[in-house]
Parts: sequence; structure tokens; C-alpha cells
Amino acid sequence: MVTMKVAFIGLGLIGGSIAKTIRKKYPDSEIVALNRSEAPLEEARKDGTINAGTHEVDHNFEGCDYIFLCTPVETNKFFLPRLKPYLQSGCVLTDAGSVKGVIHKAVSELLPEAHFIGGHPMAGSEKSGYANANDHLIENAYYILTPGENSTIDELNRYEKFVSSLGAIPLIMSPDRHDYITAAVSHVPHLVAYSLVDLVKLKDTPAEYMKLIAAGGFKDITRIAGSDPTMWEQICLENPENIVELLKDYEEILSGMRKMVEEADGKGLHKIFEEMRDYRASFSVSSAGPIKKIYDIYCDIIDEAGAIATIATILSTSGISIKNIGIVHNRTFEEGALHIEFSDEASKTRAVEVLERHNYSIFLK
Ligand code: NAD
Repeated sequence: MVTMKVAFIGLGLIGGSIAKTIRKKYPDSEIVALNRSEAPLEEARKDGTINAGTHEVDHNFEGCDYIFLCTPVETNKFFLPRLKPYLQSGCVLTDAGSVKGVIHKAVSELLPEAHFIGGHPMAGSEKSGYANANDHLIENAYYILTPGENSTIDELNRYEKFVSSLGAIPLIMSPDRHDYITAAVSHVPHLVAYSLVDLVKLKDTPAEYMKLIAAGGFKDITRIAGSDPTMWEQICLENPENIVELLKDYEEILSGMRKMVEEADGKGLHKIFEEMRDYRASFSVSSAGPIKKIYDIYCDIIDEAGAIATIATILSTSGISIKNIGIVHNRTFEEGALHIEFSDEASKTRAVEVLERHNYSIFLK
């Protein structure tokens, strides 16, 4: 018996990965996909991900519970009017785009009757295409949902549960908030990374010593400057107001730092560095508001080589999987503490039992 029907427009990295995850979690579902090129459709039919493939919006789109738009935003817009005859009652239309305001605006103008809930899986890779899609890309990833004007609370609840059932972590917010938040934590940092690389390119010595030395830490902090230029051009053009506003804020912060360096204000610099180090150390800790509960513990350890590996081994041999693990340094812990996150309460409870049995001191916040 078919448990649900889902359609995809665009069966690349993101569409393909969501489709594969649905096939894994809902083996009896009916999945159809539209793609421009034939190769992904053929591959997905062969590996059992989709039941049917098509190159245009046709009868395959009848009776869907969800329709996912997973092509670039401009292409998603093109398909909106074509979907009109296929929006049966209860069908949620969604997308996977990295900027939400533009698609919400397009839906209001081109397909206002759609029950649209925007979606943004905070997962990805530098690679694209169905060939790189997998059934665990969105696992444990935050998946932002932005309800549209016409979507109901019931539909939102249903979609939220659906996303959870796929192993991702749903977060609900308005499209505006999404675009502001992602501008701060993703879009502006990409521009900063590109600009840092530019600085070195411009200022390097003829012997290219900067480039030589940049192989280490500099390469780490500019890793995201290796991202797809076309995708980042599109994102900057789709979210300009937020990016410009936050870039201005950032320029002020940078000017403040430059001033402190010029004035040899060591105390001022030290204060900022200390505050930012501590704030950063708090990033993976559960926050209030819309952030889903995190199941975490702190384990007191001596900060030495092998400490993390020992604990990871103890947990994995007890069948407990770790979602996230890392050392935190702050004044609460004398030496260092290992912050460990789990996917559910049961894993956390078992981990506490197992680690205490091995004489580790556990702190719960
Ligand atoms: P992709 O290039 O891997 O896949 C896009 C798919 O759409 C391809 O299969 C392509 O053949 C198909 N397509 C393109 N134009 C088409 C057209 N005119 N008609 C029919 N099919 C067409 O891209 P992706 O990484 O899967 O990105 C898809 C969406 O997901 C984008 O909106 C992107 O912003 C969003 N997204 C991407 C990432 C990421 O890291 N890649 C992360 C989150 C969200």
C-alpha cells in the first residue's frame, strides 16, 4: 500500500538526497521526479529511489502529499504556474532554496493558492548532482521551515513531523528571519572568506610567501571560499538588503578593532578576544527559543591526546552513537571538558551510566 506520494522538481544533490531519504524511511511511498536531463531520472529509477520520471509537469504530479522544488530559485519560479492544476487539497508545496524571501514572494505572485511552506536543509556539499546524493545528507542537520501565508497549522505540524521522521531537525521561522540569520552566519562569512583570500592575493610578495604559509590555519578559515561561485552570486543577488546591512555592521566591528590596534589598546583587544572566545565556546550548547532541545552532557577530562578517542570508543562499544563531540574550555571546568551531544534522551541517559561506570565525572547543565 502506498503510504504517501511525493514529487520532486530537480533531482540533483539536494532533491536526490531528500528523495533517497524518503525512500529509506518510507519504502512504500510513491516518488516521482521531474528533471531536465535524463541521466538522474534513469539512475534513480534503477536504484529504486523513484517510481517514475518525467521532463515536464504532467499527470505524474496528481495526488501528491508534498511537492519539492529543488532546482535553482529562478527555475523553481518558472515551474510555479505549471503546478496549478496539480495542487490537490492537503498538498504541501515546498522548496529547498538557500534564500527564502524571494520564493515566498514568487509564490504569492504566481501561485497564491498554493499551501506553501519554504524549506532549507542546512546540509550540502561542494559537489552537485544526483550522482553525489545520498540517503543521509540531511541526517541531524537543521532543516528550516518558513510557513507561507496560505499554509495551515495542521500542514505545518505535519511537515515538521515529516522532517523529523527523515532524521533532520526542523526549526520554524519567518522567511525574513531566515534570510537575516543566514546572512549573518553564512552569507557574510562567505564574503569575508572570499575577501581574506583576495587580501593575500593582492598583498603577497613576488616569491609568494603568503601563499606558501597560508597552507595551514589560513586555509581552514577560508575553506568556504572554495564554494561554487555561481551559487554564491545567486545568493548575494537574492538576499542583498540583509547582506549589505550586516556587512556594514561588520565593517564597524573591524574599524573598531583597527582603531584599538592603532592606539595600542591591548586591554580593549584582550577583552574582545576573551569575550568572543567564551561566546564561541557556547555555540553548540542548547539555546532557548526555536532551537530544538539538545541532549548533551559535559565530561570532565584531562586535555591530552587520546582523551576524546577513549571516550568515543567507550560509547561506541556500548552501542551509543554520538551526534557531536568537542572540547570546551571555560572557567566552569578546571582542565577541559568534553561536550558530547546525542540524538535522543535515551542515548544521553545510557551514556551517563556507562561513563560514570568508567569513573568519569559527568556534568549536566
Ligand atoms: P544540483 O545542481 O545538484 O541539482 C539541481 C537539479 O536541477 C539538477 O539535477 C538539474 O539537472 C536540475 N535542473 C536544473 N535546471 C532545470 C530545469 N530548467 N528543468 C528541470 N531540471 C532542472 O543543485 P542542488 O545543490 O541540489 O541545489 C538545489 C537547490 O537546493 C537550490 O535551490 C539550492 O539553493 C538549494 N540548496 C543547496 C545546497 C547545497 O549545498 N548544494 C544546500 C541547501 C540548499
